[in-house]
Order: sequence, then structure tokens, then C-alpha cells
Amino acid sequence: MTVRVRFAPSPTGFVHIGSLRTALYNYLHARKNSGKYILRIEDTDQNRYVEGAIENMLSAMQWAGVNHDEGAIIRNDDLVQIGEYGPYVQSERLEVYKKYIEILIEKGQAYYCFCSKERLDEVRDEQKKAGLNQKYDGKCRELSKEEIKKKLDNGETHVIRLKLPENYDIKFEDVVRGNVVVNTVDMDDQVLIKSDGFPTYHFAVVVDDHLMRITHVIRGEEWLISTPKHVYLYQAFGWEVPLYAHLPNILNADKKKLSKRQGDVAVEDFMKKGYLPEALVNYIALLGWSPEDNQEIFSMKELEENFSLERVSKSGGVFDINKLNWVNAHYIKEKPIEEITDLAIPYLIESGYIAEGQVQEKYDWIKDLVSIIRINLNNLSEIGEKVAMFFNDEFKLSEEATDVIAEEHVPELLELLKTKINNADSIDVSDIKSIIKEIQKELGVKGPKLFKPIRVAVTGESHGPDLPQIMKILGKKNMLLRIDYVVNNFIKKV
Ligand code: GLU
Repeated sequence: MTVRVRFAPSPTGFVHIGSLRTALYNYLHARKNSGKYILRIEDTDQNRYVEGAIENMLSAMQWAGVNHDEGAIIRNDDLVQIGEYGPYVQSERLEVYKKYIEILIEKGQAYYCFCSKERLDEVRDEQKKAGLNQKYDGKCRELSKEEIKKKLDNGETHVIRLKLPENYDIKFEDVVRGNVVVNTVDMDDQVLIKSDGFPTYHFAVVVDDHLMRITHVIRGEEWLISTPKHVYLYQAFGWEVPLYAHLPNILNADKKKLSKRQGDVAVEDFMKKGYLPEALVNYIALLGWSPEDNQEIFSMKELEENFSLERVSKSGGVFDINKLNWVNAHYIKEKPIEEITDLAIPYLIESGYIAEGQVQEKYDWIKDLVSIIRINLNNLSEIGEKVAMFFNDEFKLSEEATDVIAEEHVPELLELLKTKINNADSIDVSDIKSIIKEIQKELGVKGPKLFKPIRVAVTGESHGPDLPQIMKILGKKNMLLRIDYVVNNFIKKV
């Protein structure tokens, strides 16, 4: 049997990273088992429809490299569908649901319900007052064929409900949670077709999963409570029930479900901040699944080889931004320099330090800049603040930096540095290293006494990345300007 899994988002706005993780686990399970991964759009709730949400979701998945084999994709700006079990957009499948609800009614497993909203509210109120479980009281369960026909002919508003047997144990197997048994005593006769003629999620999901030959339903644990209804629907149709895997929630530090109020939760937020897709995917893969050893850095290919549903845990993983930063920093450092430069350029432009028109001409210089700065980045949007020292010529000095250049030997050292930079034919890392070596010999100073004043004079800061590389990036003219600026403004004349 070929493994077939699906991710079935409702296009209601931004893409929560929990959704990306659900998609990822489905994708990984398919890859690991040489199966197929399907993406189905669940848009039957017309009230929740948000313009552009489908495109947004598909592009987030593409960005993350979680690509599906069947379903809706964007091709040349159009939404197209690939695969032989389509359409993969539920609003295009209304005829299918119609056909299957009729089968269910015919089998006596579903029934028309004409109760008004007011009546349902009353019933619930009374149940509440009596301390009973609130559910539909079954008034329309036993309507005769004639009564139904009459009401339908009169055009009475109605829904179609599932006819659940009383006191019946519904059992199913969940890879993450083991065997689950739920009795129908507390369950409602679920609405399957709404009064607008659209199917509910519960009905559409079962019909589609069956028709699309889904073997494993891997989804968030918030759906666990609905699963008994789904399982009963399969049984009512006489269909084979898929294997379930309900994934634990991603949690905040306070162990509550990760929500927007606590910070970034949308894939788009992380994209914008300059998290790399490979880092986000690597990090969220480990939020709920654990490998056999303690490996923490996984390429997509390694995840595909190592992932298993059996190692998904029941308890939720806590989202830890510091850990994500650590993983992202790793990928920023490891990426080929051209690639990371290209990704960093929009952030440099945004920070206002580089104009779009200069990029081509300054490309090599930008590359040097990125190569030295990237070792200190958690994400690419931090680059603006980290490169500031290359652009602000008139800096202020911290107390520590002031102390560094207050030492007696510094004026002579900077004078010598200036002369040597002035006389140099080229300012490459090796030229700079020789200049510093010469000063060391001529003045007899070394270590911090030698390096720190030079660093403060050219950057205004007493700590930072590799000094010769910084000096190379600054170039001759800038360095001379800055040394003069420091000498004139911060060194006491005697
Ligand atoms: N459309 C549901 C959602 O928005 C899918 C739930 C499921 O995977 O069955 O998450």
C-alpha cells in the first residue's frame, strides 16, 4: 500500500508555524516511506475566507521547501491543480459531497434537521440549567419520509446531521497516543451539511480523505476531539479508517499554546526577519519529534531519512527563540558566501546604508562586509545595526574605548598608523597585517595595547570582528578620516 498523506489548510490568513510543522511532518512521512504528499485547500467555511491567503500559504510552503506531490500550486501566477484525485480545493467539490450525503441518507446514517436556531438555543439553555451535557435532542431524527418531503418542497431551511448510535464505543488507533476509545453518549449528532448547502469540515474531510486514498492523517492535536466523529463516518460509509497521528501543540514558555500575543508565530514573520528556511525547518522539525541520537542540525535530506512518526512525542514542544537563533546563526555562517550576500542585500538596502543602484558596482565590497558580519548574526534583519560601524564616521566613544586611547603611547601609535596607511599601495588583509607588525616592531608594543587603540580609532569600538578584515572593508580613505576624527576629538592635546 502506498503511503498517502495530506496537509489540509483552511486559508484564513497568515501561516502559523504550527501549520508549517504539520505540513513538514506529513511531507517527511511521505518522503521516508516513498509515498505521496498532498495539499488540499479546505475552504468550505465561506465566512472565514481571506483574500490572498491561499497564495500566501503556498508561497510560504515553497519558501520552506515543503513541496507537495499533488494539489494546488501556483504556476505563472495562476492557481493550478496537479494530481489525479482532484479537484483539491473543497469549494470545487460540492457535487462530490452532495453525492455522498445522499448515500448516507439512503443508508439511514444521516438525517434532515429543520430545527430553527431559536429552538436549538432553547434546548441548550434548558440542558444547561438542568446540568446536562449540551447537545442536539434528536427531534428530527424520526421524521417520516412524507414529512421531510413536504418540508423540503416548502423550501424550509435545514441542515443534514449524522445519526450517531446511542451508547456506542468508537475506537481508533493513533500513532502518537495509542488506542483511543470514545463513547457516543456525550457526542452530538454532528451537522454534516450546513444550511447554505456547504459541507462542514467534518464531512468534507472524511469524504476527501477517503476519495484521495489518504492512509495516514497527521494533524494538530486540536483535531483529536473531532476524530471519533470522523471514524464513525468512515464506518457509516463502510470505508477503511486511516491511521491517525495527532501532533502535540507548540507551546510558549508558559506552556500555553503558542499564540500571536507572545511574539512571532507566523512563518511570514520569520521570513521577514531573515530566518533561513533551512533553519526554521530544522528547528521546528525538532519541536515534537526527536531523533535517535542528540543530533541538532539536520538538512532536509537528513530529516527525510531519519524522521519517524513513532518518535513524535505526546507532550508539546516549547518554542525557544534562542534555540532558533542558534540554529539560524549556524546556517547563516555555513551558507555559500554569494548566497548569503544576495539574501542580505535587501536588508542592507532597507537599513539605508546601501542604495539599490550601488549594489552591482559594490558587490565585492558588500560580500566582504557580509562575510565578516555574518558570524555575529542571529537573523539577517540584524545586519543593519551590525554594519553601522562601517558607515557612521562620527562615532561616540564608550568609557572603555575612551580609556583605551587615553594611554600615553596612543598618539604616536596613531600617527605611525596614519603614515603607513597613507604610504601603502594597497590595503588588503595581508598589507594591513604587515603594517600592524611594523608598528609592533617600531614602537615595541603588542597585544591589546597595540590592537585596541587601532580598533577604537577605526571603528569607535573596543570590541568587534577581525580587525584586519574590518580595516580592509573600511579602506584607506575612511580609515584616515576616522583616525583624524579620533585624534582631534578624543585625544587630549598636551
Ligand atoms: N482544515 C483543517 C485546518 O484548517 C484541517 C484539519 C485536518 O487536517 O483534518 O487545520
